[in-house]
Amino acid sequence: MRPRIAVLGSIHMDYVISLDRIPRLGETLIGKGFKMTPGGKGANQAVAAARLGAEVYMIGRVGENLIGDELIKNFERNGVRIDHVKRAKTHSGVALIFIDSSGNNIIGVAPGADHHISKDDVDEAFRDLGDRIDILLLQLEIPVEIVEYAIEKFSEKNVKILLNPAPYRPLSREVLSKIFIATPNEVELELMSGVKIAGDRDLIRAGRRVIEKLGIENLVVTLGGRGAMIITEKEERLIPAFKVKPIDTTGAGDAFNGALAVALSMGRSLEEAVIYANAAGALSTLKIGAQEALPTSEEVERFLEESGR
Ligand code: ADP
Repeated sequence: MRPRIAVLGSIHMDYVISLDRIPRLGETLIGKGFKMTPGGKGANQAVAAARLGAEVYMIGRVGENLIGDELIKNFERNGVRIDHVKRAKTHSGVALIFIDSSGNNIIGVAPGADHHISKDDVDEAFRDLGDRIDILLLQLEIPVEIVEYAIEKFSEKNVKILLNPAPYRPLSREVLSKIFIATPNEVELELMSGVKIAGDRDLIRAGRRVIEKLGIENLVVTLGGRGAMIITEKEERLIPAFKVKPIDTTGAGDAFNGALAVALSMGRSLEEAVIYANAAGALSTLKIGAQEALPTSEEVERFLEESGR
């Protein structure tokens, strides 16, 4: 049976202009290129999981505009189920991104429809999916109260909750204690734990504090080119990254989270699932863009085989 995953989160269109340098305040600068590409952490992670063979249900909102139509078409092209993608009487979420010739960027986001996701939307999705999905995957680009409500609701059923706490915002302890796995990066772990991280000892201390104080069962801390660290109450284990020559690391975290959800819902152990997610994360750095760079299950399997895993 294909793993079944629901993703509740943001759906954006990214507008990317590349320039020699970032314009100064008040300056108009002629750029070198433009690209309009679907994004948003929620949508990226949904597409990541779908490419890896899961049956994926997106829960979210797009605007009543042409961009909304495009975002829905993009889900259809990628085989993501859109039964729970609704329209909102506003614009679709957009990100305006300027990238300079060294790859530095500045980004502004207008969430639009993302901020119109309601508790009713969650209830509706819950009625349909509560008994059917293995994993609910969440991020923090939509209102926190909706994320909290969804965790409360879906944890009543036999659904594992995977939270990618990005961009970081605090959630109530009661809600966090219902999470099976949280996947912060180092910056997010610092914010969650209140511990300044200067080395692996701090990292483990911060992770333990999150587990003890917030009651989360498992942490998987993503460490970019180093891989990811599993931290549980009893142990910690660094799962090293696959060695690649990255071209663009945008969306590596989204590839990682989508893949982690897929591997876990296929019944792999946490360690095996992190190896699989590291492979998907590494492969996603070899192409430019977020969604365009997401690997398929065949690509990940072949890569794992070639790497001797
Ligand atoms: P985020 O972008 O959310 O901060 P990371 O940069 O930690 O996330 O990347 C997520 C995952 O992608 C890493 O845990 C790793 O598995 C993979 N990854 C990212 N950068 C590299 C890299 N340079 N080489 C190999 N794998 C990478």
